[in-house]
Amino acid sequence: MTKQTKASANDELVFLPLGGSGEVGMNLNCYGYGPEDNRQWMIVDVGVTFGDLSTPGVDIIVPDPSFLEGENIRGIVLTHAHEDHIGALPWLWSRMKAPLYATPFTAFLIREKLRDNGVRDVKIIEIPIGGHVDLGPFQVDFVTMTHSIAEPNGLKITTPLGTVFHTGDWKLDPAPVIGQPTDIATITKMGDDGLLAMVCDSTNVFVEGEAGSETEAQDGLIALIGSLKKGRIAVGCFASNVARMVSVIKAADKAGRRVALAGRSMHRITAAARHVGLFNDSQRILTEDEARHWPADEILYLCTGSQGEDRAALSRVADGSHPFIKLGLGDHCIFSSRVIPGNELPIANLQDRMADRGVRLYTEKDHPGIHVSGHPCRDEIKQMYAWARPRISVPTHGMRRHLMEHAAFARDLGVEETVTPRNGDLVRLAPGKAVIIDEVPNGRLYVDGGMVVTEKGEALRERRHASTNGVLVVSFAMDKRGRIVSDIDVRAIGLPGDEVTPLGDALDDLAERVEQVVGSLKNEARDDDTVVEQAVARVLKKASQQIWDRRPIVETVILRL
Ligand SMILES: [Zn+2]
Ligand SMILES: [Zn+2]
Repeated sequence: MTKQTKASANDELVFLPLGGSGEVGMNLNCYGYGPEDNRQWMIVDVGVTFGDLSTPGVDIIVPDPSFLEGENIRGIVLTHAHEDHIGALPWLWSRMKAPLYATPFTAFLIREKLRDNGVRDVKIIEIPIGGHVDLGPFQVDFVTMTHSIAEPNGLKITTPLGTVFHTGDWKLDPAPVIGQPTDIATITKMGDDGLLAMVCDSTNVFVEGEAGSETEAQDGLIALIGSLKKGRIAVGCFASNVARMVSVIKAADKAGRRVALAGRSMHRITAAARHVGLFNDSQRILTEDEARHWPADEILYLCTGSQGEDRAALSRVADGSHPFIKLGLGDHCIFSSRVIPGNELPIANLQDRMADRGVRLYTEKDHPGIHVSGHPCRDEIKQMYAWARPRISVPTHGMRRHLMEHAAFARDLGVEETVTPRNGDLVRLAPGKAVIIDEVPNGRLYVDGGMVVTEKGEALRERRHASTNGVLVVSFAMDKRGRIVSDIDVRAIGLPGDEVTPLGDALDDLAERVEQVVGSLKNEARDDDTVVEQAVARVLKKASQQIWDRRPIVETVILRL
């Protein structure tokens, strides 16, 4: 073991969020140790966030890791297998190229994810539950937490300049259905020994009370599913919440129903859970073929797509296009999940389509108790500070308002120092007072058509522009003397016409304007395609402004004869 116990004179311990601070999603946190010009790093989590209506065609957004390229990275530690913590590995690992450390369930899913995306030669080191890893100046202990996924871990990071507790995502669940409850003894011991800093989940800081136990959700589901005697039942939940799956299966069992899985991630996660022994098939899952013919009153479908995702199982059921699930009048759909901010519209849309088929809906709003959050509410956060007693509080995993409220709350609880970095803020945790000492390059990268591009990239900007303004395509031929020697063809994409201004008339008018403007150009200007294109674009944008009050993209194709 290369255990380093003493700090050198210029050594510093720094914390740097590159994603996840000031947003929910895309977690990428870095710890650095050493003198400013020779730091060693460990990375915690490499997650994604998802695109929305403002990013047409872009589903996956990842943090910009350019600061880390060429740095001495000792290892990448993954706290748990949620997409906002591991989802960016296929896109970013090659820019960090450090070994990965994770507990078995997380490691299984990472291995699959990298393989599916063709990323090879990654060293994945499986750490047992409660295990330890030596990453140079960082001695890392995995601390068992409870959350809404199998094997959530906090990290006790011991350095010569002090110990940091990185909580990861957590809540306090004394009866988590699967896995062990929170390792309170280790956390309390950190407090007893003197904890330098705690980097802590802020998601539910505005919510009073406690998140509630997975066992409560199980009881809620048993009661609701048991009360629905007739008709088919579909339950939507996150596949990664293995405890919830187990609870739904148990509820189905008690109600005399057999379970069928719908959606790729349901199968993927059950395979992972089986692999690590979290899932025993006491009640065998129906095959698709069996599900097709099973009596309606004796079946329950566990489905992906509770967030209204387009191609997921529930959406296809709502469209009537699912290969083996047909729901209609007298059937039921239970949403054992919350609405993730940003997904309100697609979820409402999904529920409308489902209701339109005659399916009855059950959500946590009208049936409290069929879902519990995976993140700590105020009473739990308070309890955590009472156990860990850090000198410095560093809120993470939240929007700006969550981080600021978390810091204020920590001060109320008597924490000496708080620091609330934004993505890219480099915080010195030790020696001395916690302070932001630098801002490093940061931002978002978009996965667009399988390529990783900057958020200011031209392609997305053009698509956005085209989606509101439309496109005009102009083509004509010119001879050696710069005269137009063909018809001028103007085509519109996404621009309207009506009875007063038929589209054909508008395009004829635009063609005339092209003829005029090209004719008005000087001889040498007409020889230069770029000059001609610019002149055409200028005149057509101006004319479009008059016709449609829009400035479409103008694409000019000149054929030189
Ligand atoms: Zn998270
Ligand atoms: Zn999580």
